[in-house]
Amino acid sequence: MPRQRPIRTEAIVLRQRPLGDADRICVLFSPTRGRLEAVAKGVRRPLSKLSGHVQPLTCGRFGLAQGRSLHVITEAVTVESWPSLHDDVDRLTEALAMAELVDRSTDLDAASGPLYQLLRHSLGELAGTASPRAARWWFTLRFLDQQGYRPELDACVRCRAEVKPEGNGYSAADGGVVCPTCQGAGVGLRLSSPAFRLLRYMRRSSCDATAQVRVDADTSAELDRHLRLSMEQALDGQLRSGGFLKSLERAEAIGRSAASAAAEREREEQDRAVV
Ligand SMILES: [Zn+2]
Repeated sequence: MPRQRPIRTEAIVLRQRPLGDADRICVLFSPTRGRLEAVAKGVRRPLSKLSGHVQPLTCGRFGLAQGRSLHVITEAVTVESWPSLHDDVDRLTEALAMAELVDRSTDLDAASGPLYQLLRHSLGELAGTASPRAARWWFTLRFLDQQGYRPELDACVRCRAEVKPEGNGYSAADGGVVCPTCQGAGVGLRLSSPAFRLLRYMRRSSCDATAQVRVDADTSAELDRHLRLSMEQALDGQLRSGGFLKSLERAEAIGRSAASAAAEREREEQDRAVV
């Protein structure tokens, strides 16, 4: 087998999990190579030089050697570590939610420059924002755009009528806002005027400007719900059309129950690794 060339890339560490006694497997997200899984050797030993550079939510420059099944990290230099993401539980929660969304929606070894730039920019914004929740909404709206699930906010997704701010609904399944008539006929969930206005404002505004808007608890909960349903729609679409398909096929090949047990264990280990 020909010797494979080492990889040099900038990447963000999405998560990591323990491997053996001293190592960790890091899931990296790179603009040119998408998701990469790489072993960080010896990082669980005290005095490891590598460990500070491979923490989740660190952006770094990495050198990777290609092993038989996993890459091996040969060098790592931190570019951005956004310490404030780790100092505040709200920021950390939203940052991990962004990382998980990227993790679930990208393939191994597939270029994803625009999504990488969005994640890097959004983590930077999140690190300095007054409203971590608004930063996640702002990220999610752009994530949906990039994945081909841009929510329609100008015309009813059912009858194409132009919509005004009052009396509308939101249907994640149909891909956006629903006019009062169609909502009255039972399509979608209620979309309050403040939530509608904020969605439109967010689309045309910076993350920083979005975070300045005062949002009450009901509107926050409503936006969380609508955007979560749209995200699920996008992730489901990828499940059907690629995305997760390859990993599902792999899971079927080794037995469904074994795969889900392994995924469960991995999730638990990941939780421990992050805390
Ligand atoms: Zn309508």
